[in-house]
Amino acid sequence: MANLDSIVSLCKRRGFIFPGSDVYGGFAGTWDFGPLGVMLKKNIMDTWWNYWVEKRDDIYGVDADIIMNPRTWLASGHTETFADPLIECKACHGRFRADKLAKGLNESVTDAEFVRLHVKCPTCGQEAWGPIRMFNMMFKTHVGPVTDDSSAAYLRPETAQGIFVNYKNIVDAFYPDIPFGIAQQGKAFRNEISPRDFILRDRECTQMEIEYFVDPEAWETEFEQLLKETDDFLENEMGLSLEKINHLEVDAKDRAHYSKRTVDFMFDYPNGEEELMGLAYRTDFDLKNIEHESGKSMEYRDKNTGKTFVPHVIEPSIGVERLVLAVLADAYKEEPIDGKDETRTVLKLPENLAPYKFCVSPLLKNKPELVEKAQEVYRMLKDKYTFVTWDDSGNIGKRYRKQDEIGTPKCIVIDFDTLEDGTVTVRDRDTATQIRIKPEEL
Ligand SMILES: [Zn+2]
Repeated sequence: MANLDSIVSLCKRRGFIFPGSDVYGGFAGTWDFGPLGVMLKKNIMDTWWNYWVEKRDDIYGVDADIIMNPRTWLASGHTETFADPLIECKACHGRFRADKLAKGLNESVTDAEFVRLHVKCPTCGQEAWGPIRMFNMMFKTHVGPVTDDSSAAYLRPETAQGIFVNYKNIVDAFYPDIPFGIAQQGKAFRNEISPRDFILRDRECTQMEIEYFVDPEAWETEFEQLLKETDDFLENEMGLSLEKINHLEVDAKDRAHYSKRTVDFMFDYPNGEEELMGLAYRTDFDLKNIEHESGKSMEYRDKNTGKTFVPHVIEPSIGVERLVLAVLADAYKEEPIDGKDETRTVLKLPENLAPYKFCVSPLLKNKPELVEKAQEVYRMLKDKYTFVTWDDSGNIGKRYRKQDEIGTPKCIVIDFDTLEDGTVTVRDRDTATQIRIKPEEL
């Protein structure tokens, strides 16, 4: 399996992902997507939207604003509890997440538990800790020209609440049969104390979430169904091998207090197992909180049975950057080249996610007749498939290495035989084998 450094390096070298504000030396916990990264990320997000929203009849899309009425976060509990334990080294003033400094600690770690472990500061090696305090991870801002408590607002820490605040609008406008879902993709912000592990834990991320509203009596079967569909999505749409995904049933003591079941999808990342996504049964926790805070009823009346209730919710929630990294890590291979004492780096991305489907080249760029024919093939394929790139730099071997590294499934080369019989060489990324066919057959 690939190590994280080689993936980070490939991402920068080939224009997938750059450190944020790179020209100023970066900015902790921020990463910018370059041209190929944008294409990969967009393919992943579009595939998700198509799979969960467009192809189905029961899931509705919304796109809520990032800055929401701050009462949202009072109701959801984020103002009170969306916090990590922060500890400061009194010797060097380094700040850390207390629960990440030693094994076996969790977010509710106490000063007494921490002291007992005699943890040394990772920066200066001293053992001189201040008290643990809870640090709220929401990014605070002010709305309008006045900067006081009455104008305080937050960048949303999750997309889920943008869905919950629109639940009543969707019911009023569409009156969907239950079960039904509402989906949203968009940015979410978390002021992580110590961002790390490349795009796995950045301060600004893109989420894809669905709140699936069900009859409280049916939650278990609906949960199983969503679990199956999620596996199908990860395996068949994202091309991830299921052997690298472990369904972790989260223990009652580690679950949110209202949840009766949560499954974390743990992925075998290059730097260890980490959460890829979660599937959580949230009961009526959020809708009840909104009822309480807004004074408006969140009840749903079943058209067929007349039964009236506040729906329960099952939430598949995924971070796009985590998914991008899983797809990259799973696709990244270093392989020996047949007959040569060299290796090649290849991204074996699924075809539906690869930034380019085809690369078109003339065998030699100083032969106008080859270039002209190659341009013709390039235009034809680009009109048909859009995601087609042109490469006439260096020699053919170099072009193949480059296209392997960016995951282009097929390289098309126009040579002198093309001028004779109209066939082109098609070279396969994964097997490196070549065939000759007419470009119209592609
Ligand atoms: Zn220190």
